[in-house]
This record gives sequence, C-alpha cells and structure tokens, in this order.
Amino acid sequence: MTISILWFRRDLRLADHPALLAAVESSDEVLPVFVRDPALLARGGVRVERLDASLAALSADTGGALVIRTGEPAEVIAELAESVDAAQVHVSRESTPYGRRRDDWVRERLARGGRELVETGSPYAVGPGRVLNKSGEPYRVFTPFARAWHDHGWPEPGGRPDDIAWAADPDPDAGASNNADPGSPDADRAVHGAAKGGDGSAGRGGEAGEQAALARWRAFLRDDLSSYGDQRDRPDLDTTSRLSVHLKYGEIHPRTILAELADHPAAESESARRFVTELAWREFYADVLWHWPRSAWRDLRDALAGMDYDEGPETATLVEAWQQGLTGYPFVDAGMRQLRAEGWMHNRVRMVTASFLVKDLHVWWPSGARYFLEQLRDGDLASNNHGWQWVAGTGTDASPYFRVFNPVTQGVKFDPDGDYVRRWIPELAHLAGAAAHEPWRSADGYDYGYPERIVDHAEERRETLRRYERARGDG
Ligand code: FAD
Repeated sequence: MTISILWFRRDLRLADHPALLAAVESSDEVLPVFVRDPALLARGGVRVERLDASLAALSADTGGALVIRTGEPAEVIAELAESVDAAQVHVSRESTPYGRRRDDWVRERLARGGRELVETGSPYAVGPGRVLNKSGEPYRVFTPFARAWHDHGWPEPGGRPDDIAWAADPDPDAGASNNADPGSPDADRAVHGAAKGGDGSAGRGGEAGEQAALARWRAFLRDDLSSYGDQRDRPDLDTTSRLSVHLKYGEIHPRTILAELADHPAAESESARRFVTELAWREFYADVLWHWPRSAWRDLRDALAGMDYDEGPETATLVEAWQQGLTGYPFVDAGMRQLRAEGWMHNRVRMVTASFLVKDLHVWWPSGARYFLEQLRDGDLASNNHGWQWVAGTGTDASPYFRVFNPVTQGVKFDPDGDYVRRWIPELAHLAGAAAHEPWRSADGYDYGYPERIVDHAEERRETLRRYERARGDG
C-alpha cells in the first residue's frame, strides 16, 4: 500500500486539480493535508475567517479526511510524510515570494528523508513565468502579455477523480483541535457565515467552498455575463462575478471558467471578451510578481523613486478618516465602508479610493496596499499590490501619475443615481439621486452627521502635480 500526500494551499477544491490527479495516479491512497502556517495566519484577519470557511467545505467534500495541522510547514509536512511513509508530496506550484521560499525549505527538508516535493499545475490558467516574448523576456505591459497568454493557451480542465481513496490521519489526536468538524454548527457558520453582506443580507458570492464557487460562476454566466461589458464599472448595479474570493482560495480553477465560457453561446460577445481580459489581468500580475518578486512592496518602475510622500501624526489622522470612510467624499467613503463591512469592494471604487490615498492624501501606496490586504477577503498580493501600483503610477503600464481620479465626478459617472453611496452611508440617505455625491450643494446635506471634506481635492491635485514634476526633475 503506497500513500502520497496532497498538500492543499491556494487550491481548495477537488475538481480540475492537476496536483490531486498526479497524487491519485502516483499511489494507492492520498493523504489530504492543509497546514495552518502561523506566518500567514498572523497577517490576515478576515482572510483567516474566510479560509476557515473554505477549509470546512473542503473537509466536508473529503468526507472528513482532510488533515489540518498548525505549524511551520517544512516540519509539519516532513513529519506527516515520514509517519505515512509517503515518497511524494504533491502541490500546485506557488508563485508568491513567500510561497516560493517556503516550498524551497520544504523541498530541502523532504529531500533529507529521500522524499520529493512534486509540483503540478498552479492557481492560474498559464503558470506564472511561462509567457515570454520572442526574445525570451517577460512582459511588463499588459496588452502584449494578454495576447501572448491567449496564444499560449491552456489544457482542458482535468475533471474530478472518482472515488479517491483517502488515507487516514496517522495521528488523529494531533489534529483534533485544528480540524474543522464539518458537521458542527461552527463549521456550518464558517461555510455560510462569511456570506453576509454589511447589511446582514446574504451577500452575492459570499458562501465558501467548491460547490459555492461553481454555483456563483454559473449564476453569473446565466444572469450577468450579457451585461458585463456595459455594467462592470457600475458599483450601484453590483453585477460583476464576485469570483475573486473563490479564485483566491482556488475553490474554482480559472481553466474551468475559461473552458465553460468558451463553450457558451455568448463566447464571442464583447462581454465575454471583456471578462476574459479581466482574468488575464489576474494572470498578468501573478506573472509580474514571479519575475520581479521585489515589486510586491517596492515601486516596479523607479522613475518616481524621488517622489515626496507625507507621514507623521497629521497624515495618520487623515489616513484614519480614509480607513473609516469619513473623508467627506461620498464615493470614497462608501467604498471604504463596503470594504470594512463586506471584505470586498467593487473594482472601480478600489481605483478611486486608492487614488484618494495616494494623490489626495499623498501617502505612499504600500501603506494603502497593506490596509487593503488586511480587510479584503479576496486579498491577493499580486493583484492587490500591482493594482495599487497601477493607481500610483509606479507599476506596469501604470496610469500616468498626472492622471488623478476626481472622487466626485467618478461617483457621478459610475453611480449616477447615488444608490451605491446611499447603500453604504446612512447619513446621506435623505439626499435624492446624484445629490448624494455632493452634500455640500444641499442645504440639509450635513443634517445627519456626515463629515465635511477633509481635504480640498482641487488643491491636492495641484500639489500632486507639483510633487510629480519635482520627482521627475522638471520642477
Ligand atoms: P470581475 O469584474 O467579475 O472580474 C472577474 C475576475 O477577474 C476577478 O474575480 C479577478 O480574479 C479578475 N480581475 C478583475 N479585475 C482585475 C484586476 N484589475 N486585476 C487583477 N485581476 C482582476 N483583485 C483580487 O482578486 N484581490 C485583490 O486583493 C485585489 N486588490 C485590488 C486593489 C486595487 C487597488 C485595485 C485597483 C484592484 C484590485 N483587485 C484585486 C482587482 C479587482 O478589483 C478585483 O479582482 C475585482 O473587483 C473582484 O471582483 P469580481 O470578482 O466581481 O470581478
């Protein structure tokens, strides 16, 4: 009887799972394992809650076979491999700087015992690092990357193995306190509880696990894909797929999405093309992080290395107002309140709130990126930190630094009836239509305690441009 280990990480599903298929083929039984790594748990409040929900679902899907341990991964995995005498530990290939370092340690530690870490597949349609230009160089600009990514293509989804023979936990007592019991009320809350929207209603796409991810994807395909091209920028309509959190935990593989989309009657529509482009952004940012791991927390392009940013107690007070959704700019505040309540924010609003921190409050982007990662349930180092750099003008095909989002006109354009603002800011619920975006224009605009603007956007825009010119040596 041979046993291999499948070590789950950002791939918490059983279907279309290349590493699982490789594990099943390589041995008689598979021990499914998840390691709660203190180095990662320490960083993410809402993400840990969402992770637990996903693990509870996966545990149920494996009939309770999932072994969950807490500890340093190299030690935990090596000990488990020794106790079941697994020659191979199967994983999906990781592409974040920490994930790669950690896997190197695990590989070395396993090799000492004559065991092997086997990497098959990744959380992406095309593994980061594989799409190169004709000279064998990585891409730094999205559009040519997306073209080459598409031309590269990806294999068909791998299906779900029938009747996987799961191996028994070699030391059930060691994991008892860590394992989510799939039948317990706590686990049920974990699976479904993270679903709630800020107002207590069932949030779209909030449920965890593989079945929830598939259901969300298919509901989007049925109900919202056709309007995606026109409506994806409208936070008030809220009709984007909400798949980011499912993709974050690998509850669905992007290949599954791309294959089902390709078979759909609307596959050639503008909406479908637009949706594939958004998935390509996710792949692009993972690829950039693979090639330039330092870009996680440093400017990818150093053209703005000389930029002046603000810090100190006065700035801290402004940042606090931004975090709490109390800047006095309704579109920004609605987004920041949605983030705190739902652990999710619409893409358009992510851009505008990020721009406000960098260009109205003059704060260096990593501080905002860190806050987003703490708050987002879909918090993903590559998409988040490169999304911030795009806004800040320091990243790949960044929007030029001198392009400053106007938080009021953005709101009026993308939330034309003010519904999004009123949904998140009860102090403005009395203002009808687009008036909710400009309470300073209504005599009763501040009657219910909404704060005055903490900065003057026009003045801060000018200040940003002055700093930009100085940093470029033009000032
Ligand atoms: P849809 O519009 O339905 O898009 C489908 C999928 O495409 C998304 O689930 C996502 O996987 C991918 N996608 C869409 N837009 C982008 C994009 N601009 N960059 C990369 N992938 C994209 N996305 C995250 O998954 N995690 C993050 O931590 C994150 N932080 C961001 C921070 C900032 C400042 C910005 C500007 C964007 C960030 N994004 C992040 C990208 C984007 O905002 C979210 O992926 C999107 O809002 C998720 O909602 P959805 O699933 O309904 O998107």
